[in-house]
Formats: sequence, C-alpha cells, structure tokens
Amino acid sequence: MSRKKVLVLGGNFGGLTAALAVHHDLEGDVEVRVVSASDHFLFNPSLIWLPFGKRTATDITFPLEPTFEAHGIDFVRAEATHLDLSGKRVVTSAGTYDYDYLVIATGYRNDYAVVPGLGPDGNAFGITTLDDAIRARAGWRHFLEAPGDVVVGATQGAGCFGAAYEYLFNLSHQLRKLGLKKQVRLSFVSPEPFLGHFGMGGLPHGESMLSMFLKKEGITAHMDVGVDRVEEDRVVLADDQAIPFSYAMFVPPFLGQEVVRAATKIADAKGYVRVRDTYQAEAYDDVYAVGIAAAVPVPWQTSTPLGIPKTGFPTERMAHIAAKNIAAQIRGEQPRAHEEFGDMPAVCVMDAGNNGVIILADKMLPPRKHGVLIPGPQAHAMKLAFEKYFLWKARHGYVNLP
Ligand SMILES: Cc1cc2nc3c(=O)[nH]c(=O)nc-3n(C[C@H](O)[C@H](O)[C@H](O)COP(=O)(O)OP(=O)(O)OC[C@H]3O[C@@H](n4cnc5c(N)ncnc54)[C@H](O)[C@@H]3O)c2cc1C
Repeated sequence: MSRKKVLVLGGNFGGLTAALAVHHDLEGDVEVRVVSASDHFLFNPSLIWLPFGKRTATDITFPLEPTFEAHGIDFVRAEATHLDLSGKRVVTSAGTYDYDYLVIATGYRNDYAVVPGLGPDGNAFGITTLDDAIRARAGWRHFLEAPGDVVVGATQGAGCFGAAYEYLFNLSHQLRKLGLKKQVRLSFVSPEPFLGHFGMGGLPHGESMLSMFLKKEGITAHMDVGVDRVEEDRVVLADDQAIPFSYAMFVPPFLGQEVVRAATKIADAKGYVRVRDTYQAEAYDDVYAVGIAAAVPVPWQTSTPLGIPKTGFPTERMAHIAAKNIAAQIRGEQPRAHEEFGDMPAVCVMDAGNNGVIILADKMLPPRKHGVLIPGPQAHAMKLAFEKYFLWKARHGYVNLP
C-alpha cells in the first residue's frame, strides 16, 4: 500500500513542529511535504532586539530545506493560493499538491488597516515581521540623530502584547544606556483594560508589578484606549488625546492568511480555522490547523477590543497534538489527543533589556489555579539562553525535546 501523504502549509513554529513530529511518530512511514512561503525559519521572539542592533536577520533565522531534508521531508518554497478541501489538494505558486491529511500552520499577517497611518508606508514602525523590524532598525538609527519623544503601544484588536511590553522596556533600557532617558518622554498605549492584562486576563500582582516598572522607568501609560490615527508626528487616541512623537512603534492586530479566509467552510471572518480540541477543522476530519492559524475564542468582552496571544508554547503543543492524531488516523485509530487552548500552560519570558519577568501559569486563560510572575535579571538570561536553545533544537529538527 502506498504511504499516506501529509501536507503541511507553513514552516515556522507550528508547521516545522507538526511536520517533524508526524514523521517521527510514524517512524518515517509517511510522506510529509512542507510548503512554506518563506524558505527560512524565523525566531519571531527576537524581533524585539533587531531594531536596536542587538540581533541581525541572520542571527534569528535559518534555512528550512536542509533541516527537512535531513529528516526525509520534502520542502517546497511556495505560497498556498487555494485550498480545495473536498478534492483534498492545495494549489500553490509552485504547483498543485494532493494530500491525505492537511495541516494549516500559515500563521498571521498584520492588519494595518485597523488604524490610518500604520503599516510599511505609514508613520509608525512595527516589529511583527522581519521586514517591519528591519525598517524599525533604520528608523531607530534616524531617531538617534535627533532624539525626541517616543510612543510604543498596541492597537485595538492586538493580541501580541508581550512584544509591545518587551519593546517598550528594551527601548527604555537603550535610552538609559545612551544617556537619553531624561530628555525623551516615553508613552505606552494599549487597549488592555489594565497594565499586565496581556490579553490573558492578567495574573496575580501583574498590574502592580507593571505599574511599578513603568513608574521606575518614567513611562506614561494610556490604557483601555484605541488609536484613532497615527499622523506624521503625533498619535491621536480614540479619546482625542494627542501624543507627539519622533519615533513610534505599534503592534497591530493579526489576521489569518487570505488563502485560509477564502476557505469559508473552515475559516472564520478573520481567516483563522475553526478547530476542535483535537486541532481538526470543525468541518473536516482530515484537515488540521495549529498555532496562530487556529481560531481561539476570546473569552471576555472589553470596552476596547483585544486579541489573544497565541504564543510559541501553545503553538508547539497544538502541533504535537495534530501530529499524534494524524499518526493515529493513519494507523486506523481514532484521533484521541486533545487539549483546549485555554487549558494549556502559559510559559513565557518578557524581556526588558537587562531584566525581565518570567510568566508561568497552569492555564493560558482563566479560571486558573496558579499564576506567577517572577521578575529579575535571570529572566533576561533565560530569554537569551532560550533563543539559542530553541534555534538549535529547531534547526536540527529535535522537535520532541521540550
Ligand atoms: C515580535 C514578536 C514577539 C514574540 N515573542 C514571543 C515570545 O516571547 N514567546 C512566545 O512564546 N511567542 C512569542 N511570539 C509569538 C510566536 O512568534 C508565535 O506564537 C509563532 O510565530 C506562531 O507560529 P506559527 O507557526 O503559528 O505562525 P508563524 O510564525 O506566523 O508562521 C507561519 C508560516 O507560514 C508561512 N506562510 C504564510 N502564508 C503562507 C501561505 N499562503 N502558504 C504557505 N506558507 C505560508 C510563513 O511564511 C511562515 O513560515 C512573538 C511574536 C512576535 C511577532
């Protein structure tokens, strides 16, 4: 009998993990192909450092093909352009590929349309893609020639709050190192109802700890507010307050990819795949979605809309669940591995330049039994070590390591 075909779309956290894990779970007795728009893995968490010259693009990326080749997985650099789910095939810019099982791990794109003046041709920088971060690097260099006020924030609908906070504190650290701390007014803008909500409902003592951090750094916070527009030299908030700036960075909301959004049988209006806790699409047993591509219900209503942070840890966890279930289906068994996103543990490090906070909780979303924030310089050291470890692990395809 011919080997079953698993087609994985996307080669970053979710796609790389799912492809290698299913290959491993079936001891190679499966044909796995990865189609990804990028031919490099990108360690997105380090994008916060790139604008300050602490990392280059090559430090935080590696080519995908050698990794997949070493594990007997076919890699195609191409963009998926149409999902033919009833025909069990995917049209891509490099041809059409059929499958027995499909894993969608196509992640996010920035929704810059949410605020006029954002985006590559706008007035504020971003750091959520490599190109954005490279532009933010050039902008930072330019800013240093004539420093002025700075605004860092997240717009309404954003979910990647950790990146906004990390950038804020890293920027503040840079200002101090450069002797500019006293001359630059630094403001933080966020739709979160309170400091340290993180799109996760907050953690014990989080708000007071973050308030203390901001006070110590002399940062003014504007919370629970959207952004109306970003003009050339000022941000106008939804409550009409205007904050002048010489340099601004905003984390925008994310959307799923257009190719997914167009597959209306499986996707929600944002282009995320509606999934069960097995990470199978609600409408198809042979289609899975993991990581940011998977829809996660937002469990609260806030006066300013918020997204959910779909971070690396739950992304890898979803990818392992999907891989186990596909392996089970190929063996003729039921797909039994399951876990709701909200029940997965939260494990994250928020870097602050030479300091940071380790965030640990038994569940991503409340109600929780345990949640703790551990501040200190060890958090920064952990983030540095984790970056090196993760890039080593991913590059070698050791996805079964923790
Ligand atoms: C600035 C920043 C900082 C972060 N910091 C942290 C952190 O400290 N800790 C943490 O846990 N998480 C962090 N995250 C979140 C983490 O990066 C995400 O959880 C992770 O990237 C999700 O992986 P993914 O594979 O689902 O999606 P992505 O990383 O978005 O990967 C999607 C892949 O799909 C490919 N693709 C896209 N469209 C197509 C298409 N049409 N066809 C084929 N391929 C396609 C892309 O090229 C890419 O390779 C951060 C994110 C950002 C942006």
